[in-house]
Amino acid sequence: MITRRQFCATAASAAILARAPSAFAQTNYELIIKGGRVIDPSVGIDAVRDVAISAGKIAAVAPNITASAPDTIDARGKLVVPGLIDIHTHAGRSKEGPPMCLQDGVTGWVDAGSGGADNMDQVAAVARGAPQIGRCLINISRVGIAPGELLDLTRANVDLARGAIARNRDVVIGVKGRMSNNVAGANDLEALRRAQAAADGLPVMIHVGQNYSPLRSYFSLLKRGDIVTHIYAPGPNSLLDDKGKLIPELMQARRRGILFDFGNGVNDHFDWATVEAATKQDFWPDTFSTDWNVMSRTTGVVDMPNVMSKLLMFGMPLSAVIAAGTVNAARIFPSFDDRGTLNVGAPADVAVLELREGEFEFLDNYKGTRKGKQRLFPVATVVGGKKAPARA
Ligand SMILES: [Zn+2]
Repeated sequence: MITRRQFCATAASAAILARAPSAFAQTNYELIIKGGRVIDPSVGIDAVRDVAISAGKIAAVAPNITASAPDTIDARGKLVVPGLIDIHTHAGRSKEGPPMCLQDGVTGWVDAGSGGADNMDQVAAVARGAPQIGRCLINISRVGIAPGELLDLTRANVDLARGAIARNRDVVIGVKGRMSNNVAGANDLEALRRAQAAADGLPVMIHVGQNYSPLRSYFSLLKRGDIVTHIYAPGPNSLLDDKGKLIPELMQARRRGILFDFGNGVNDHFDWATVEAATKQDFWPDTFSTDWNVMSRTTGVVDMPNVMSKLLMFGMPLSAVIAAGTVNAARIFPSFDDRGTLNVGAPADVAVLELREGEFEFLDNYKGTRKGKQRLFPVATVVGGKKAPARA
């Protein structure tokens, strides 16, 4: 809460600063990230720049900022991008999750359905205690994610979900439903209708892959701004028809403003053949997400930069990859309105990444490997203007 007196004092000192000689103003930077290749698709920059941070905000993005600062990051030869935003994680399952993925460059995450009405309060508490911005989608099943959580449709209780959203309005920003046959069976469409009823206009994310119903039947129940995750999951009922062509309803849904998320995960969420067939027909993800949990570093997910690297070898341009991991994700949810950007005045959430060249092996969910010539690695993370501890 800022009192009127504090506000006036702040405004006055800002006015003094604005008039002060530049040498004085420059010394107020707390951290300067020097000499990196800044890729910020939100403002269309891809150039070597310094990034200066003051009072937890981006203060300047310019060539050769000569001011000194108490702290610097030497980013020469590295990429400097907006802090990564991972819209499908399970970082809210335990308080150990958020600090771990922060080291991977993830300065904003969405926990997608770990909690339902019965256990949402615990997940929400983890989000509130996180070192970066953390938000949650409530599972339409009251039990959250569990084996076959929607096979008993009475668990998809709209009133209970609405109550849990109302109790946690500060961090619950949408609703999740898992549509796969082994999760929902033939209850899928009714569960999705109930997810929309509980959401009451908030975004709904559906998890697809090996569904009972065809994808087009879900699309007709989705509104602009809703998200389909695990979009490259193999069939039955994938995004490809039995001749390997994209189903026509896919592009219709995209034109209508439905968003398509990668959703790496571990089991049955993507295979290389589906990625290859879809991307050859120019179907690229709007967003990357890891489906991350604290075990992910050992399961082939590894980290958000690794997941983002997986489409480089299929020809997705680097700037599009960075956009999908930053500004595209930020635009989905109003809570992230000022994120996914290095625009002056935005919260200083920054990921320093290294794009290494060589031969790197990547995994799908079926132990299939592909070799790529480029891989992104996390180097340093800044959140709210402060350096995060480096990864061990
Ligand atoms: Zn998930």
